[in-house]
Amino acid sequence: MLQNREHEKVDKKGNGKSNSFEWTIEQLKRQDNYRVLPLIDHQDKWIKQDGHCMLNLSSNDYLGLASDISLRNRFMCNLPERDFLFSSSSSRLLTGNYPAYTELEQLLSELFGTEKALTFSSGYHMNVGILPAVSDVNTLILADKLVHASLIDGIRLSTAHCIRYRHQDYKQLESLLAKYHTAFARIIIVTESIFSMDGDVTSLNRLVALKNIYSNVMLYVDEAHGIGVRGKNGLGIAEEQGCLHDIDFLCGTFGKAIASMGAYVVCRKTLYEYLINRMRTFIFSTALPPIVVAWTKFVLSQLDTWEDRRKWLSEMSDRLRQTLREKGYAVTSESHIVPLIIGASDNAILKASELQHNGFYVLPVRPPTVPEGTSRLRFSLSAALTETEITYLCNAIR
Ligand SMILES: *Cc1c(COP(=O)(O)O)cnc(C)c1O
Repeated sequence: MLQNREHEKVDKKGNGKSNSFEWTIEQLKRQDNYRVLPLIDHQDKWIKQDGHCMLNLSSNDYLGLASDISLRNRFMCNLPERDFLFSSSSSRLLTGNYPAYTELEQLLSELFGTEKALTFSSGYHMNVGILPAVSDVNTLILADKLVHASLIDGIRLSTAHCIRYRHQDYKQLESLLAKYHTAFARIIIVTESIFSMDGDVTSLNRLVALKNIYSNVMLYVDEAHGIGVRGKNGLGIAEEQGCLHDIDFLCGTFGKAIASMGAYVVCRKTLYEYLINRMRTFIFSTALPPIVVAWTKFVLSQLDTWEDRRKWLSEMSDRLRQTLREKGYAVTSESHIVPLIIGASDNAILKASELQHNGFYVLPVRPPTVPEGTSRLRFSLSAALTETEITYLCNAIR
């Protein structure tokens, strides 16, 4: 910390050139990593930009629920007056704890078969909130190298020690656990179930087996891309792999397949009570509007009925991955998130605009979202796509 500040001072004396906002913006432009907010119009699964209509292949509406107008109408027709509120006007610990919250958490713990569930305003709130709350200087966090920015920020906000293990390298994780389990009071393994930029799937069972070797190791799994999409009832990779009850912090978000906003953790009662008392992003922030919570509950209560959507999504993903393989691209994806890795940012931008020209709204993903030299196009499929549309897409990839 001290060192950082010293460094700033030196820069300031040297006219602070590399420190100025303008200089940084120039650098980003030169590296093709400069971003602007796109001006777009939405019409369910379509995107309109500058009069050009494109199929949206970049949204996280994996089950097509966010663009399902009849589902939305059904919700609005049955919405009780009680939940028709656009603000909770308070943190849940004060006056913001509307009945919809308790009902949603009750539903979650029933679906997952766990003691308790706690919900948050967003996945970002969840990850930057839980990790600092449950760790201290005697904690070691072992996090997969590619975990989401919100998890990294949660680790940064904590006082824990942290080691990032190589992506999905269970052997390295095993030796880190063996080496450090006596040096720390608590070790927390942190991972995602489906990785957001690579679309590969973590073997949660292997992590469960590793954690069970030692009594002081806990497992934290973020299912942001798994909830709704995987498992017979849509409960995610943990359901698919049969380890729903072996994960200490089983987390997920509502902003993707669940077509809403917010996030959850299902956990033991003790952890639930502890988080309510210690988690700063939970305590010091206004709770989500009750209408949003009611919508989440409405969607989740039907999650088991959308098996056909999950199957169709999986079939389309298979086809897209097969196409990429046939065209000579390396495919690591094992899910509906299918990256086409290109390398240089400028090439990724070019390729994306080519596909956009052909009617597919695909976006380039560049550093710092992904490591340098691995810029890519990220196809994020939705069950709302039709047979014809996926065929057109496969034909358009060169
Ligand atoms: C999207 C995402 C988040 C953030 O969730 P929000 O609800 O959008 O804040 C957290 N973790 C992962 C892995 C994500 O992909």
